[in-house]
Amino acid sequence: MSKTIHIGRVTIGGGNPVAIQSMTNTKTSDITTTSAQIAALEKAGCEMVRLSAPDENSARAFKALKSKTNIPLIADVHFDYKLAVLAIENGADKIRINPGNIGDDVKVKAVVDAAKAARIPIRVGVNGGSLEKEILFKYGNSAEGLTASAINNVRRLEKMGFDDIVVSIKSSSVKKTIDANRKLAEAVEYPIHIGVTEAGTYENALVKSSAALAPLLLEGIGDTIRVSISGDPVREIFAAKKILNLIGLRKFGVEIIACPTCARTDIDVEKLANDIEMALIDFEKPLTVAVMGCAVNGPGEAKEADIGVAGGNGEGLIFVHGEKVLKVRETDLLETLIQYIRENF
Ligand code: SF4
Repeated sequence: MSKTIHIGRVTIGGGNPVAIQSMTNTKTSDITTTSAQIAALEKAGCEMVRLSAPDENSARAFKALKSKTNIPLIADVHFDYKLAVLAIENGADKIRINPGNIGDDVKVKAVVDAAKAARIPIRVGVNGGSLEKEILFKYGNSAEGLTASAINNVRRLEKMGFDDIVVSIKSSSVKKTIDANRKLAEAVEYPIHIGVTEAGTYENALVKSSAALAPLLLEGIGDTIRVSISGDPVREIFAAKKILNLIGLRKFGVEIIACPTCARTDIDVEKLANDIEMALIDFEKPLTVAVMGCAVNGPGEAKEADIGVAGGNGEGLIFVHGEKVLKVRETDLLETLIQYIRENF
């Protein structure tokens, strides 16, 4: 089991639930816009937010941003150790650096000392695009190289007397992500943040992230996750919740199951499933809802679901654990189902 680490109000590692994180894509120095995005992420269920600090104004912005939220804020800094120190001094709850691109030991030690004084952890974040020359020479941009770089950098911090560490290895390759994180989990006892980097636009990102994260999470590897998606980061949270829900590691609200449709299908299953998902987006209790295309096979096939609907000839059935409870006009199906769920579950 990984070591327990505190990031603001969130505790990760040591068997705690896998935490969901995302990253803002606004200018960090734009306090109004960035605060609004942090609030939207938190509302969707994000448990910690990472923000880039590419310049002094962004590093200083942590102070104002922290005063507007309780969610832990992580500063992401590349190359310039002074920006990392400044973000820490302005209240960042964790700092993410790749010590390999921060520079010599004097610079890395300055970040370590600031983190120690502020009692915050450092995430050693390694990715394929920023591997050190020696590593590239010896291993190439491989899973072995990524793991060796991460371990070297962890040992560097340990030698400086620092062990409040989270580690991550990111690659845009599913296989490398899995292989490297497996090796990393064998080598270190620190919590591991997992994700596929540059996973792409929505559909591609979902498939890639699920393919890479599910095997790791099922093996007990990964204490925080990010599903990286180009565009609005709020969608990353829904995707992360879905992955954790589907593999049974956490329970978040409604899980919709829907039949694939066939020649027997009598209703618009896709539209109804989407409408139900949207109508229950605020429903917090764990609930499985089935949307089935016909009344002949639907209720039986979806017995495992807590509740479901099946369509047929302008009418619809609402069933609970496979047993019919209501027959309604198809046009009333959505509204009746939502009302039944809100009254009975
Ligand atoms: S539930 Fe009915 S419509 Fe849906 S796939 Fe099964 S048989 Fe076809």
